[in-house]
Amino acid sequence: MSGTTIAPWLREILRCPACRARLRDEGGGQGRPEELVCTSGECGLAYRVEDGIPVLLVDEARRP
Ligand SMILES: [Zn+2]
Repeated sequence: MSGTTIAPWLREILRCPACRARLRDEGGGQGRPEELVCTSGECGLAYRVEDGIPVLLVDEARRP
């Protein structure tokens, strides 16, 4: 079981709303919440995922 709840096609088109960089999956196992993390080293915001829906709001993102 991968623990990934986001469809691959959806993840492919998602971009960080702050800087438009790609996002990578983090967490989702060992009781950790799944997050989508910006791949930009300067940005690095982490967006939570609720019921398989990424919350891509800069105001809601976790700062690195
Ligand atoms: Zn970003």
